[in-house]
Amino acid sequence: MTSRWIGNAPSRCDLCDAPIVDEFYDASMPNIGGSWANVDRRCFTMFNGKLGVGRGQRYHKAQDGSFICVEGGRNTPNIVAIPDGD
Ligand SMILES: [Zn+2]
Repeated sequence: MTSRWIGNAPSRCDLCDAPIVDEFYDASMPNIGGSWANVDRRCFTMFNGKLGVGRGQRYHKAQDGSFICVEGGRNTPNIVAIPDGD
């Protein structure tokens, strides 16, 4: 079972405005105030984003053009454990 991004996928990174081509992260970004953002890999790494349910998911573009959650989601193989607190 896969999780698909519903609706229009972001076309640009919320932080640096770079175009989103085939991958983005939907993630809680605690280092920029804890709000959620759609960011590219560069910003996700730079701002120390975390993958996991309730934290962040990585979406990758499928052949049909839709974005599928490939990491960090409830139904993805690479679920990252969420520690208590931080
Ligand atoms: Zn960015």
